[in-house]
Amino acid sequence: MKNKIKMVRRACPVCDSKNESCVFAEENIDRSQLDDFAFASRKMPEYMHYRLVVCPGCDLLYANPLPTLKTLSEAYHEAAFDSAEEAGYAARTYASFLNGIGANLPDRVGALDIGTGDGAFLEQLIGKEFAKVKGVEPSKAPIQAAKKEIRPLIIHGLFKPKAFKKNSLSLVTCFQTLEHLYEPKEMCRGAFQILKTGGAFFVVSHNRRSLSATVLGRKSPIFDVEHLQLFSSQSAKRMFEEAGFKKVEVKSILNLYPVHYWLKLLPFPRAMKKVLIPLLKAIGIGYLPIPLPAGNMAVIGYK
Ligand SMILES: [Zn+2]
Repeated sequence: MKNKIKMVRRACPVCDSKNESCVFAEENIDRSQLDDFAFASRKMPEYMHYRLVVCPGCDLLYANPLPTLKTLSEAYHEAAFDSAEEAGYAARTYASFLNGIGANLPDRVGALDIGTGDGAFLEQLIGKEFAKVKGVEPSKAPIQAAKKEIRPLIIHGLFKPKAFKKNSLSLVTCFQTLEHLYEPKEMCRGAFQILKTGGAFFVVSHNRRSLSATVLGRKSPIFDVEHLQLFSSQSAKRMFEEAGFKKVEVKSILNLYPVHYWLKLLPFPRAMKKVLIPLLKAIGIGYLPIPLPAGNMAVIGYK
């Protein structure tokens, strides 16, 4: 069968090392499925991944080779959005860091959320008295799902640092997105440029060295074709520092999600989930929110 996806090789996207001697896992992809798979940010995990290499220079785990940028950006524009409930829970979890960060900022004027989805976090920023709040989002579906008063704050498209004035923002946030980017370091540099002195870049990503990732091994939902790289605290810190940030802090996160979402993430057979999830929803337990360490970390750097 003809393979429609063109694959390309790359150096480590954090430290530029070309040392590929440590192969973490060989490619595990059904190419016929890859041709039309969905790129939604939260979905049923399927355990497919590209060939994964560990960088000896910075501890990043990254896909190499991977599809061309063109192939991946086309896929993003067609992504569906069906997780407003989960987006709301995630936004509340991440907002719990805003009091601590806010105390260190020069002011609360100018905040940008990159990959904002339906803008759930923009609501949290406004609630914490941030002014001049904006979001950028490449997919149309989540913007259409945004609340009426939030939608005008969302710019449809990819993050382009040049679209914002240099040294003009106090806070830039980017959640669960760095793993998906072709050039994550470029985004960090872009965030640095548009931040005021003392402003913060606040990122949430998976931590591949977290307890849950270690316990689940390659059954962890973080090993996914959507993830082009996976960070540890070491590699995340290194990327922030290379982009110019000082006083970089890494903190683990307790995620608050309803029971049905936790079940979706766990490595049970799909048939079992299809029965169990609607059943628990029907009796109400499925909607019970519980906090668990899902292997996420918050990375915060100051300019
Ligand atoms: Zn590296």
